[in-house]
Amino acid sequence: MKDIIIIGGGIAGLTAGMYAQRGGMDTLLFEKMFVGGQAATTYSIENYPGFVDPISGPDFAMKLESHARKFGLEILYDEVKDIQVDGKIKKVITDNKEYQTKTIILAMGASPKMLGLEKEEQFRGRGVSYCATCDGAFYKDKVTAVVGGGDTATEDAMFLAQYASKVYLIHRRDQLRASKILQDRVMAHPRIEILWDTVVESIMGEEQVEGIKVRNLKTDSLSQLELDGFFIAIGIQPNSGLIAGKVDMTDDGFVLTDENMATNVPGVFAVGDLRYKPVWQLVTAASDGAIGTLSAQRYIMENFE
Ligand code: NAP
Repeated sequence: MKDIIIIGGGIAGLTAGMYAQRGGMDTLLFEKMFVGGQAATTYSIENYPGFVDPISGPDFAMKLESHARKFGLEILYDEVKDIQVDGKIKKVITDNKEYQTKTIILAMGASPKMLGLEKEEQFRGRGVSYCATCDGAFYKDKVTAVVGGGDTATEDAMFLAQYASKVYLIHRRDQLRASKILQDRVMAHPRIEILWDTVVESIMGEEQVEGIKVRNLKTDSLSQLELDGFFIAIGIQPNSGLIAGKVDMTDDGFVLTDENMATNVPGVFAVGDLRYKPVWQLVTAASDGAIGTLSAQRYIMENFE
């Protein structure tokens, strides 16, 4: 039986794993795709303390993994299909095997939200994208648009502007939500045009994105933009499908915890973007990971020793 099973290999999960190994816990981390989580698809990280020069997301993810492995963390690339959390001994179930553990740390993170437009799913990969860093280079000298007004949308617009001849940043209000430094950058960029008070009504095109219809909310006027690429960056939704009905969460699926990262189920902790909290950042995810493990360790001492 394991002491701690961590589900998810983003910064929260890997930090939890690193702390667990250093604390002498018998630990296993499951990751279904690639480590690093959302950070791994970020172009450039410039606000993680200690990294004076910006570091690319993939490089950052590799550093996180090697740091955790340095302390002996076992990472299994497998998808967890179910968990059982009712008894004192928990179960983590994959297609091939069932694992027993004293505690579980949930660290499945979050994914980009969809706008919910007709053709959005159909044109995904054919002009619709949720990852500017992954797909931006396809749009050299082309026209693109990003929807959203937060840190992700503004960073995406800056990234795309390296390649595209024109980037529209479409925001539903007259003020961006993004941090000031990012706002200043997009506003000063000669190839980025911000469309304020504007929402996207539909995506145009037969086989791929050819444009969008937008509505100005102040004037109620409708117009069309011809586009090659349409990027959506309107926030995140938690990857909490696996645990629906098993731990308490908000209506939109973020897991509720106390300040020790404990969920309402004894022995089950949640960390990182999966958790309902005021600030979703790399530093807060790392902090959650450390606290989650120390809480799990305390729980084991009190309940198993
Ligand atoms: P976010 O901060 O929640 O911003 C989402 C943006 O999309 C908001 O401007 C929102 O408009 C808009 N929006 C939401 N739903 C919409 C809809 N249906 N139609 C049109 N617009 C919609 O999301 P995020 O930018 O993905 O960031 C998520 C978290 O990660 C944040 O905590 C952010 O600070 C963090 N993050 C940090 C960095 C960094 O530090 N460098 C980078 C990326 C992300 P309103 O403003 O009107 O609500």
